[in-house]
Amino acid sequence: MFTYRYRELAVALEKKGEIRSALAKTLRVNPEEIFNLEVERFSLDSRRKGDLRWSYNVVFDLKRKIRATGNNARGLIESQREIRSLDAEPGKSTVPMASHVDIIGAGPSGLWAALHLLRKGFSVDIYEQGKQVEERFRDIRKFFVDRKFNAHSNVLFGEGGAGAFSDGKLNTRSRNLFSETVLKDMVQFGVDESVVTFAKPHIGTDKLVLMLREIRAEIIKLGGKIHFNTVLEDIEIKQGRICAIKLKETKDERRGSASSPTETKDDVAIGNWKPCEALVLAVGHSARDIYQLLHARGVQLESKAFAMGVRVEHPQILINKRQLGNVDTKLTGAAEYFLATPTLNKTSSAYSFCMCPGGVLVPCASEPGTLATNGMSYSRRNGAYANGAIAVPITAGAEGFDIPSSGSLFGGLDLQRKIESDAYNVGGKNYAAPAQTIKNFLAHREDKALPKSTYPCGLVPSNLWDWMDKTICNSLAEGFQNFDRKIPGFIEEGLIVAPETRTSSPLRIPRNNETLESVNTKGLFVLGEGAGYAGGIVTSAADGVRLAHFAKKENR
Ligand SMILES: Cc1cc2nc3c(=O)[nH]c(=O)nc-3n(C[C@H](O)[C@H](O)[C@H](O)COP(=O)(O)OP(=O)(O)OC[C@H]3O[C@@H](n4cnc5c(N)ncnc54)[C@H](O)[C@@H]3O)c2cc1C
Repeated sequence: MFTYRYRELAVALEKKGEIRSALAKTLRVNPEEIFNLEVERFSLDSRRKGDLRWSYNVVFDLKRKIRATGNNARGLIESQREIRSLDAEPGKSTVPMASHVDIIGAGPSGLWAALHLLRKGFSVDIYEQGKQVEERFRDIRKFFVDRKFNAHSNVLFGEGGAGAFSDGKLNTRSRNLFSETVLKDMVQFGVDESVVTFAKPHIGTDKLVLMLREIRAEIIKLGGKIHFNTVLEDIEIKQGRICAIKLKETKDERRGSASSPTETKDDVAIGNWKPCEALVLAVGHSARDIYQLLHARGVQLESKAFAMGVRVEHPQILINKRQLGNVDTKLTGAAEYFLATPTLNKTSSAYSFCMCPGGVLVPCASEPGTLATNGMSYSRRNGAYANGAIAVPITAGAEGFDIPSSGSLFGGLDLQRKIESDAYNVGGKNYAAPAQTIKNFLAHREDKALPKSTYPCGLVPSNLWDWMDKTICNSLAEGFQNFDRKIPGFIEEGLIVAPETRTSSPLRIPRNNETLESVNTKGLFVLGEGAGYAGGIVTSAADGVRLAHFAKKENR
């Protein structure tokens, strides 16, 4: 047998998945001559509007040698099959870790750390301040109606973390064995197997919720314990080593009880100090109380650059037309955009982030009396609107911004809080969001009436220039002008819903690159977005896989 790869095999839109016949035709061989055909990666090739295709990278075997000639010469390479597996990676099991691990946070990084540590024979307890995903879903729905904010069960907090009520995009900039392992795990938990090979995989909130139930069942089957409604309140560090944690039950105002049906309560030392030799912090970028606690206990933190801005919403039909031309989007999926302002001064350029085709806007504050927006979508992405964050880079510690703590460790966090609380007040203190058409934003004029929006808690017309930071507003204005040249109608048909403050963490917990341990606290392993080293569902989960991959059980 001879092994070949073919790069960028073109397949007609309506023939998605019909690769054998397309490959045979391109190579001028019989379809039956092709053996062991596997897709390595595929994407929608939209470079030529009006002539969209699927583009596949495949590997396959033939019994005879063929030559790259004419039509097939561009893509054909004689090759070898690679067996890519995490277990074959060097450096496995080199980081000593106590055989019992306490994990704080049941977002992607905490769940994947638990799963892979359990698979390696560690015992694991997970503590999550929020509820299991089904109950959390009900709380969020109820909040949209009664506006009673639950600080522990919301769009950011609860089983699945910030990833559960998200757009469910699973793309990562760095595909590696850890992220591939995450995607393969997801398939094991019921997600469509195309997520492993599609260049821009997406699953949507409805499927994410189902997957989370399967992960929970697997963790429990492997002997892991999940304690919902349980918040990490304090940590004890002695001689530079973590030695105890203090946990507290979170009160559920709605049910009058702190318990959740599937949580484990047997050996949780609620309110008392519990000895702990290995603590994994997987708390996400919105656990502001944890940053303050770590700082107070002497764990090293540093401010980092991040981004803030607004959400914009457009009719999906406009984005489809401008990005894909006249095409049946049932074949392609709803269109996306990736936009950035080319400017020499990189610190003031606006760019699009976390775009949700066919999605909806959601309020995603994590503290009462504050307002932040974000976007999510369902697996079909068939809503009438497209939304995306338009973000502006913010310097580490919000250096140069107009706040008293500018340039200090918590400057970035304070700037987030200020903008979120101003937005809450401007919106009328009931989670309605300040909004402005892009057209009137550029004219510095408040709208008399606003167009329709998917934001569930109502909109209030507001001139953003009156209360949002001017540096941010100026960069946004420059960005909108630029984006309108790429997508005509971006200004005319665009609605701003403000603010988008939670794009990433304003702080980092410096860690050893190999052990993922805090640089000054032994036994404290820091993962995911909260640690400041990941930016998304897959990279956060991959951080958890990586921790477990290098962990070596230490019996002390
Ligand atoms: C609306 C929205 C849409 C998004 N869309 C996408 C997308 O399409 N694709 C993508 O890749 N990323 C998306 N993201 C980002 C993604 O969700 C995060 O990058 C990811 O969830 C980070 O994972 P994590 O495990 O580090 O933290 P998180 O997911 O934030 O999880 C942290 C968990 O820790 C818990 N916790 C915090 N403090 C404590 C404590 N003291 N005690 C106990 N528990 C605690 C929290 O309750 C939370 O459940 C989106 C985020 C939001 C909010």
